[in-house]
Amino acid sequence: MPESTPKTMGQQFGRRSWAEPWKIKMVEPLTVTTREERQKALEEAGYNTFLLKSEYVYIDLLTDSGTSAMSDRQWAGMMLGDEAYAGSRNYYHLESAIQNIYGYKYIVPTHQGRGAEHLISQAVIKKGQVVPGNMYFTTTRLHQELAGGAFQDVIIDEAHDPANLHPFKGNIDLDKVQAIIDKHGAENIAYISVAGTVNMAGGQPVSMANIKALRELCDKHGVKIYLDATRMMENAYFIQEREEGYADKTIAEILKEFCSYTDAAWMSAKKDNLVNIGGWLAVNDWTLFEELRNLVVVYEGLHTYGGLAGRDMEALAIGIEESVSDQHIRSRIGQVLYLGELLKDWGIPIVQPIGGHAIFLDAKAFYPHLKQIEFPAQTLAAELYLDSGIRSMERGIASAGRDPKTGDHYYPKLELTRLTIPRRVYTQAHMDVVAEAVKAVYDARESTRGLKMVYEPKYLRFFQARFERL
Ligand SMILES: *Cc1c(COP(=O)(O)O)cnc(C)c1O
Repeated sequence: MPESTPKTMGQQFGRRSWAEPWKIKMVEPLTVTTREERQKALEEAGYNTFLLKSEYVYIDLLTDSGTSAMSDRQWAGMMLGDEAYAGSRNYYHLESAIQNIYGYKYIVPTHQGRGAEHLISQAVIKKGQVVPGNMYFTTTRLHQELAGGAFQDVIIDEAHDPANLHPFKGNIDLDKVQAIIDKHGAENIAYISVAGTVNMAGGQPVSMANIKALRELCDKHGVKIYLDATRMMENAYFIQEREEGYADKTIAEILKEFCSYTDAAWMSAKKDNLVNIGGWLAVNDWTLFEELRNLVVVYEGLHTYGGLAGRDMEALAIGIEESVSDQHIRSRIGQVLYLGELLKDWGIPIVQPIGGHAIFLDAKAFYPHLKQIEFPAQTLAAELYLDSGIRSMERGIASAGRDPKTGDHYYPKLELTRLTIPRRVYTQAHMDVVAEAVKAVYDARESTRGLKMVYEPKYLRFFQARFERL
């Protein structure tokens, strides 16, 4: 066997490999296209992978959002949907699943994560307040800004360096938080916005020690901590793997402890929770709950369905119970690691350490000859699709958008193309095919030209922007 593939040969090297803790009961055929078809599709899509029709995509690594495979138990749960307008039995199942597994007291369902972000931002942010957070997320920051807040990044500096091997690159820099408190006063801080794991930093986790220390600092000043719990199961796995004292704890125990240091959470259930649609808010404060329960009626639906069908809430409740399984999370992150290790062995520049939900290709290192305004990460996503029909997405200057005050582009330090792995969907053989496609695009990197943006939407431009080749 070649030296570069030891991970597939676990037993031979005296190790034990993991395997998926499920088997396949139903299959969905994939389409294979020609290069000419892909060239045409890409031009029609304005070189934006969000604008491609999925029927022209072979392996879809655009996002892990809503793209998971549900289990037979979840599908069976769909048949138990209680579609009553009010007080659906599935709502109560969902409520108890969140209470039991995450540990918060009061629950508000929403149609997806941004619905939850909208409500909590409107409920708690006063105009002019600062919202410190461990690196921004697109929809999170936008809702904070629309509510009149000013986002400020307080992630540790290591997070901005794709090659830095810090084990908890999602950590909050407490000195940065202290400096904001000193400058603006605790009363002008809406809350600390903590995400675990940090998507935009490459799926990087926050340590238990860090959230504990943040809790102490915030208690001293009376500042709240709200958690973006979207990928907290993955964060819990990294704590189990990397943090002293947690190797013998279960994912469930670690998750609950982490959440206990926060005051509330919002969730995109389309990620960790293994459903195709859904979200929720969970808080411990009754007054805040009342406010959210009032707002949800205006924007989402009654507080016992929040934009979801009864059957969706049932699938979500079961998904939460499945997602906290140690076996599940180990194979989920193991698959991401497998792909990352292959690329690393071939010298392809990726963000390290390898994160929880995706491999992030370092587009600046891929295409050093492209200026950031020539959209290197967008270019790489386009090239990868053209080569093999694999769909990825840009996480760089296009995603970063513009400063609302000056109108200038944000120039993020990280210019990344994300290969996001859906949960329970693809096999190890698919990962091999993806790795080989990335290698082919890497080998052709020197002759690759960049892009220019020819259409720019006002909000979250990366979704609908159009590009042309330079
Ligand atoms: C996806 C995501 C959201 C937004 O959730 P949607 O369900 O897409 O509306 C918020 N935060 C993070 C970290 C996410 O990944």
